[in-house]
Amino acid sequence: MNYKMFLIKYAEIGTKGKNRYVFEEILCKRMRARLKPLGKFEVKRAYGRIYIEAFSEYDYDEVISKLTGIFGIAGICPVSVVNELEYDSIAKELVAFIGREYENKNFTFKMHVRRNNKTFPIESMEMNSRLGGELLDAYENEGLSVDVHNPDVMIDVEIRDSVYIYSKIIPGPGGLPVGTNGKAVALLSGGIDSPVAAYMIAKRGVEIEAVYFHAPPFTSERAKEKVKDLARIVAKYSGPIKLHVVNFTECQLAIYDNCPHDQLTIIMKRIMFKMAEDIAKKDDCQCIVTGESIGQVSSQTTFSLGVINEAVDMDVFRPLIGLDKQEIIDIAEKIGTYETSILPYEDCCTTFVAKHPVTKPTLDLIQKSEKKLEGIIEPLYKEALETVEVINIR
Ligand code: ATP
Ligand code: MG
Repeated sequence: MNYKMFLIKYAEIGTKGKNRYVFEEILCKRMRARLKPLGKFEVKRAYGRIYIEAFSEYDYDEVISKLTGIFGIAGICPVSVVNELEYDSIAKELVAFIGREYENKNFTFKMHVRRNNKTFPIESMEMNSRLGGELLDAYENEGLSVDVHNPDVMIDVEIRDSVYIYSKIIPGPGGLPVGTNGKAVALLSGGIDSPVAAYMIAKRGVEIEAVYFHAPPFTSERAKEKVKDLARIVAKYSGPIKLHVVNFTECQLAIYDNCPHDQLTIIMKRIMFKMAEDIAKKDDCQCIVTGESIGQVSSQTTFSLGVINEAVDMDVFRPLIGLDKQEIIDIAEKIGTYETSILPYEDCCTTFVAKHPVTKPTLDLIQKSEKKLEGIIEPLYKEALETVEVINIR
């Protein structure tokens, strides 16, 4: 039997004071959109909470899988609803509910009754002890016992216009609803790091667009498909992603032909960042996101990151900056991007990489090298931006 209702717990939104209403509304909107294909549901705010009510049959696993991908949700509680405000009906359903929910009854519990509806005649404290007694009568012989200090299971009973019984909390992803914190352009490659970075920024409520620098024939159509696949996985959490595919080949060859090879990656990254900034400005994005982490490769030393940053005025957020590779992999596995990320592919940054790239570049040195591109790179840069392929990832 499927639940008629879910109670949605949200942690951080609750701290938003006067803005709380706005955050809740956006969260409800996200939930409605995700649930729409799965059945007939009503998502509503009531009593300072969010409820989902089901008005049709639905696939439980599908619904939970959708909800656990929505940022802003801290927990999902499947609820049993009793419409009669009568002690006997409540007690009967409570006993049946615990019977259904827990095959193994060898655990401790605590009753937590809230009587918000004062027309119900029995006070919370008395309800706690009476309902607790009913459960013990039914299941004590199977190992059920009370522990009011450190229970394994907290059993909530809320008495309002109807009565809501729940005890399980399925963890949500936390964070803030996407759309509450502006918009970012994420530099998305086919690697492990950048999809995790995009996920982490989306988790803070930021809408995501993505840019991928493609360099055919040095990078294959397959590499591009892989980036689309990764964007699709991130979009399960962030919502639709507008993916900009930039043809970077001509720019890259110009850099290769004119600049010192040990500086290629830095110069290339600076141009990528600049293009990302142009795309961001055009699409009203406030910041750039990358998957860089200090020291991972030569272009990610503090010196290199500093010189790359100088290419743009816009803020560049690097949510992985202090994480070890293993910590990043752990997140990639959790969110489901890892298996796709490790498929073999070429990246334009690695195709042209020098044997001994600079690790302590200075802005002066790099700008001097970039002088050699003057008069050559401008039309290529313009052409690349004018021929961007836009793919809407859902
Ligand atoms: P990733 O695992 O995300 O590919 P990485 O460890 O391979 O990162 P780099 O290749 O130095 O490191 O890239 C650093 C960051 O630059 C990436 O995380 C990504 O944000 C961006 N980036 C690199 N290559 C591309 C590309 N072809 N298109 C878009 N962004 C890129
Ligand atoms: Mg990479």
